[in-house]
Amino acid sequence: MTKLKVTVLVFGFVLIAVSCATNPFTGKQTIALVSNDQLFPTAFAQYDQFLTENKVVTGTKDAQMITRVGQRIAVAAERWLSANGHHSYLNDYKWEYNLVDDETVNAWCMPGGKIVFYTGILPIAQSETGVAAIMGHEVAHALANHGQQRMSAGMLQQFGAVAGNIAIQDNQARDAFNQYYGVGSQLGVMLPFSRSHEAEADKIGLYLMAIAGYNPAEAAQLWKRMKASGGSGQAPPEILSTHPSNDSRIANLTALAPAAAVEAQKFGVSKFRE
Ligand SMILES: [Zn+2]
Repeated sequence: MTKLKVTVLVFGFVLIAVSCATNPFTGKQTIALVSNDQLFPTAFAQYDQFLTENKVVTGTKDAQMITRVGQRIAVAAERWLSANGHHSYLNDYKWEYNLVDDETVNAWCMPGGKIVFYTGILPIAQSETGVAAIMGHEVAHALANHGQQRMSAGMLQQFGAVAGNIAIQDNQARDAFNQYYGVGSQLGVMLPFSRSHEAEADKIGLYLMAIAGYNPAEAAQLWKRMKASGGSGQAPPEILSTHPSNDSRIANLTALAPAAAVEAQKFGVSKFRE
């Protein structure tokens, strides 16, 4: 092994060691080569640009509902974190919830709590509780740093090519963001989440919706509708391209719902919103 390779390896390990952190929601050590300091400003700027290029719905009952559900899910996350001793975890988050007039069946949450719902997903959500199930799931991906993990994994693969230039520069962080989150009119997560990330987001999302006062038993019903909407020759909902689903998801959501309801009781939720 050449001296350069050894140096690269050592630096690589040091970098990984310092950027590993235990995620409070998953309890897992995760690699984040791109820090929140680097990622959030990029995410916030892209989000603002997306809003200027798309038709944001304001003042309607639906728009108000998206904001209301988003705020409740954010508060649920903050309460859960505080109760579990992680008071400052969301300090850098700048929550924002917007409804965009677009028939695409999708919704997403970018790093730092930047959320978009498309009007096209509302018929499948069907109710405020259905919106809460989607919102909980999307927010859960952000809280569990799933986007950062995928970006970091991609950057690790590129390490051979950038030997001697290991420290991630801000422009590299921006490039990685653009590679893993689409830019332009169809901003959102481009690459499908892995099955394990989907399972994590389902579980965290269920707890968040329940603590926010929404019946977690409805999440399985939502994904049944999502699956059915791609049937009979219709194109599958866009959200399924980034959130690959399978039959075991509905079974898992059904099985986990009672535990989410029990967790919600710890936060004073004894009855769910109608
Ligand atoms: Zn997902």
